[in-house]
Amino acid sequence: MELNYEMFCYQCEQTAGGKGCTKLGVCGKTPEVAGLQDLLIFQIKGISCYVKVLLDKGEHISKDIVKFIENSLFTTLTNVNFDPEAHVKMLLESQKIKDAFRKLVRKPAIETAHASYNLPDTKTEMIKDAPIAGIMYDSDLDPDIRSLRQTIVYGLKGISAYGHQARELGYYSDSVDDFYVEALCATTDDNMSVEELIRLTMRTGEMAIEIMKKLDEANTGVYSDPTPHKVNVHIKKGPFIIVSGHDLKDLEMLLEQTAGKGINIYTHGEMLPSHGYPGLKKYPHLAGNFGGAWQDQQKQFDNLPGCILMTTNCLMKPRESYKDRIYSTNVVGWDGVKHIGRKPDGTKDFSEIINHALELGGFPEDEEIKDILVGFGHKTTLSYAPQIVEAVKSGKLRHFFLIGGCDGARPGRNYFTDFAKMVPDDCIILTLACGKYRFNKLDFGEVSGLPRLLDVGQCNDAYSAVVIATALADAFGTDVNGLPLSLIISWYEQKAVAVLLALLSLGIRNIYLGPVLPAFISPNVLQYLTDTFGLRQISNPEDDIKTCLKQNIR
Ligand code: SF4
Repeated sequence: MELNYEMFCYQCEQTAGGKGCTKLGVCGKTPEVAGLQDLLIFQIKGISCYVKVLLDKGEHISKDIVKFIENSLFTTLTNVNFDPEAHVKMLLESQKIKDAFRKLVRKPAIETAHASYNLPDTKTEMIKDAPIAGIMYDSDLDPDIRSLRQTIVYGLKGISAYGHQARELGYYSDSVDDFYVEALCATTDDNMSVEELIRLTMRTGEMAIEIMKKLDEANTGVYSDPTPHKVNVHIKKGPFIIVSGHDLKDLEMLLEQTAGKGINIYTHGEMLPSHGYPGLKKYPHLAGNFGGAWQDQQKQFDNLPGCILMTTNCLMKPRESYKDRIYSTNVVGWDGVKHIGRKPDGTKDFSEIINHALELGGFPEDEEIKDILVGFGHKTTLSYAPQIVEAVKSGKLRHFFLIGGCDGARPGRNYFTDFAKMVPDDCIILTLACGKYRFNKLDFGEVSGLPRLLDVGQCNDAYSAVVIATALADAFGTDVNGLPLSLIISWYEQKAVAVLLALLSLGIRNIYLGPVLPAFISPNVLQYLTDTFGLRQISNPEDDIKTCLKQNIR
């Protein structure tokens, strides 16, 4: 039986009425899961209040504890885990961890309810307690303080997704690991002023840069730098598995375990940039990319004669027509969906999904091949730097538009397709994340011998875009704000919050954000962002392109 809880969640762009989901998440999150998630965040804040004491003494905490905090943050990110039992398990673990630190430290860094609270043993009791962890629990809290605290927590959730991906490949950042604790503890501190929280928000952005850099090192260190690669977006005859999410390590393990078995592996959604990595595209059965952006999955997975593996976020409520053939791994989960766990040696056994895909038989026919181009990470794009600089100086190349971010289901998202179509022929479009699915199958042709549409990669490859922009700024003797470059960001969930904070922490101005502004940003905080960074909401593509082009300095 599902337990009731007066939920309130406004962490993503699709939040009900642009204010908050209160009855049921638009994403499908139930009040029960919402309550357990609120309590889990409350618990890791409490744990952090104890761990902070050790950090202040210069001690390092065990990476197992960091992993627990990181996984808890990631589990509560939009579209990741909808399974109540998985949350209960993590909550019980959280109390054990808290008890151990309580015994060790005795007095927390901040004396707060988060630290002193003791979790009950049953799910029913947990849900009864969950209101104390709700976002709106303290109705007298200053709205700007609440807004900044939530912005920091959402930034941390985004960072945790990248941190998890990097850690899977054996990479991590000690500064980010410590920052989880420091920031979570700080969000419980009633003595922190708005100004101090703004500074912490900017530090969250710095940590987002740090973790994206680390993930870039991980991806390029393990799989080499992406190089341009044509990807077939149509299907091939035969059994198949579709891999969705973001995790390259899972894709690699699956490619290894399916080699020579007559199974095609397709990427889906944000896995598309995987085709650019030499360490992954070397597998001949990495056959292509399937479908569109994440929000089309229910329609596109319907009655598929194959299996799907969800590696990170972007899971929607599975329809009955494919619920038996979709599998989750890592922190992803849905009640009743088969989960592939990790073996004690850290590897995974994908034989169940592989055999299932073979049984289903796959697509009966080949479709005609249709290729798109991926693989323009910073190394490849910067190999064209002299050509780009020359083209800009000679006036042949006028402007760059970075259209990045996550896709969503709202009709307003057509803005980004219309924008891309309206970009003048003498300009280049750089893409990031899955917002590009609205237009990346269109033919944009070339400018000055360069493709007009360059795909930089996943959302975390915002770091790659920053490296490209910084190098070009050096070549032009200016800073990033002086470049003929505009950033048009579509946001959907908390990874985009981390990316946005990262860009702001670098002092990047005049970012266009849409389709709507986050509900958790209070009017005063928005005013601060507008005054300080020129952050603005998208209007219409025609006017926004004109304004962007007027900012050209060359
Ligand atoms: S994650 Fe988004 S859609 Fe889901 S409950 Fe929260 S605000 Fe609503």
